[in-house]
Amino acid sequence: MNTFERALKAWGKEPQMLQVIEEMSELTKEILKNINRKKDNINELIEETADVEIMLEQLKICYNIADAVTKYKTEKLKKIDQRLDEWERKNNVA
Ligand SMILES: [Mg+2]
Repeated sequence: MNTFERALKAWGKEPQMLQVIEEMSELTKEILKNINRKKDNINELIEETADVEIMLEQLKICYNIADAVTKYKTEKLKKIDQRLDEWERKNNVA
């Protein structure tokens, strides 16, 4: 069992999913501080980004959606790339 699975087993799925929300809100707060208050909070951004990534790993295990997320992400990135190709062509970006 990896760390994410152990955390879900030890602390429970519902508390961990609420923790996902809590960590996302902490990251939201740090992004807003950085932009709105021009705050130098790079260490907080690093920490909260890591916290969210750790919780998202648990979310994927909790809902058994890791493979589907990977698949969707690949398709989404292809579409984004196509949009960027179009944008760069229109804006004469090399
Ligand atoms: Mg946090």
